[in-house]
Amino acid sequence: MAGKNGVTGISRDLIKLIMEASKSSHPHEFAALLRAEKGVISEMLLVPGTASDEDSAIMMFHMMPIDRSIVGSVHSHPVHDLRYSDADLHMFGSKGAYNFIVTYPYGENDWVCYNPRGERVAIQVVEDQAGGN
Ligand code: ZN
Repeated sequence: MAGKNGVTGISRDLIKLIMEASKSSHPHEFAALLRAEKGVISEMLLVPGTASDEDSAIMMFHMMPIDRSIVGSVHSHPVHDLRYSDADLHMFGSKGAYNFIVTYPYGENDWVCYNPRGERVAIQVVEDQAGGN
């Protein structure tokens, strides 16, 4: 299912990378912006600074420059909960069509993707193309 920006999926390698980064940040939050290439979300742009709690992660998102290749966001919830907060939903609206929340214990399936209205988006996990770019 192709959505806005022609995005059809997210790279499995990127999900692994996000989970590793979330583990390293734990018990603090991890946050990044997502970039798509050839229809697949395959790159993350780290949000500078150290997130110590939900509010600071969201604040840092607002300090990021506008970049039209950004299709969404990802942030971690160190306490197991895949639901978004009011602040999350507000942030989703400004970051793009695909907003991922990953949660403790950061397994390969411990994530969901929301659109800016807070509805779950079914997004395909795609294996990385050999060679990358
Ligand atoms: Zn959140």
